[in-house]
Amino acid sequence: THQVHIIGGGMAGSEAAWQLARRGIRVRLSEMRGARLPGGGDSTAAHNSDGLAELVCSNSFRSDDDEKNAVGLLHYEMRQCDSLLMTAAAKARVPAGSALAVDRDVFSAEVEAMLAAQPTLEVVRERVDVLPTEGLAIVATGPLTAPALASSIGAATGAESLAFFDAIAPIVYRDTIDMDVAWMASRWDKGAEASIAMGGDGRDYINCPMTKDQYFAFREELLAGEKTEFKEWEASTPYFDGCMPIEVMAARGVETLRFGPMKPVGLDNPHWATAEHPNGRWPYAVVQLRQDNKLGTLWNMVGFQTKLKHAEQVRVFRTIPGLEQAEFARLGGLHRNTFLNSPTLLDRQLRLKSAPHIRFAGQITGCEGYVESGAVGLLAGLMTAAEIAGREWTAPPHTSALGALLSHITGDAEAETYQPMNVNFGLFPPPDPATKKKQRKEAYTARAKADLAGWLPALG
Ligand code: FAD
Repeated sequence: THQVHIIGGGMAGSEAAWQLARRGIRVRLSEMRGARLPGGGDSTAAHNSDGLAELVCSNSFRSDDDEKNAVGLLHYEMRQCDSLLMTAAAKARVPAGSALAVDRDVFSAEVEAMLAAQPTLEVVRERVDVLPTEGLAIVATGPLTAPALASSIGAATGAESLAFFDAIAPIVYRDTIDMDVAWMASRWDKGAEASIAMGGDGRDYINCPMTKDQYFAFREELLAGEKTEFKEWEASTPYFDGCMPIEVMAARGVETLRFGPMKPVGLDNPHWATAEHPNGRWPYAVVQLRQDNKLGTLWNMVGFQTKLKHAEQVRVFRTIPGLEQAEFARLGGLHRNTFLNSPTLLDRQLRLKSAPHIRFAGQITGCEGYVESGAVGLLAGLMTAAEIAGREWTAPPHTSALGALLSHITGDAEAETYQPMNVNFGLFPPPDPATKKKQRKEAYTARAKADLAGWLPALG
């Protein structure tokens, strides 16, 4: 019999299984693809094979630069933890400049072979429909978790449904917003008390002002911008009124945005102060940004969920006054996804607070990307191994990519606006303020590597 039941043999489940099995722990890894069922095997709308750790779309793990890039740093840190995915990727690597790209079939076959060689690991092709009621488990069923299990998770977490459209608004790095144009304020100065109770000063939003001409020109750009199309399997999933794409709203009428997310009322722009209006005046329209993480380094564009193509978003959103130089930690999107509100539901060790024998890992925790999903699987494996060994778990340092990602998922992100997130430097505590702008990235990665080296011995 097994000591740990892992459900889902994708990025996260495969990595978690490896971390456990190589420590001699008995693991059952359940993967529904390849199961022999009446009427054929199971799959998802995105997978094409029965292989473990199948890359469903791009064949890239993104930048492998561990000095200037957050995902490259995550590669480095995973390698330090003897990652299965990074080892398999090295064997399956194809030329792609500074990116780590792989032959997806070779990659998956390599993962399967390395797992098959583990004597304490059993891969079982079966679909799991309910959350295990006892025994240690890791649920790593991904963004396309099979419906029956998704309802079981929904029942356990109190969520009505876990499969829905992400209404993803772009997120901007705070230090790339021009505050000589934008300003901090809350509408009508409302919410000051609540804000101050949370350590704010009553001016909680960053506001980007528009004149009438700018507003009309901006609306035209939204209407003309190139959009991505729904995939067939997405078209059948319901979406809520509350997450209508900004360009769809723009198409409803000239004033719709000005009465919706771009409403200017109650927002005096001090940059536009005159003798007559010493507090400033209301712009014709406003784009608001709201703090997205506790560090205050990331700000999301309120109500700006969009299906504009990524390059179009960068071009169009940089026409917004104050965002001319904006760098985006993530761009907007609208697609089907299954993920938990981890900051409220999971503890710091990825355990379901209401059923702590169950851990979650991978994209279902609200990280995004192959590498991030694998990294969270790696952490779930290490945490479970520590628990079985009766060792106290020491979290990776917050200054490392592993630690920054884990902190974000398990409590530092704002629960109310929680959306899937790639690893990025905005999740790290800022480096010494004396660091020159050009050296910031290296400062993050050098600090991460040093701190990680101090943590590795804690793994035992
Ligand atoms: P997965 O890799 O999806 O693994 C989950 C596994 O669980 C699957 O093998 C599935 O068959 C299995 N499973 C599900 N339910 C059950 C069940 N009830 N019982 C047993 N097994 C089950 N990220 C990128 O970095 N680059 C991309 O290009 C990219 N493209 C994407 C395209 C699409 C359409 C989607 C949906 C996501 C994409 N992602 C991409 C995001 C994400 O990083 C990947 O989905 C990643 O594979 C997530 O890893 P995971 O381990 O959490 O889930």
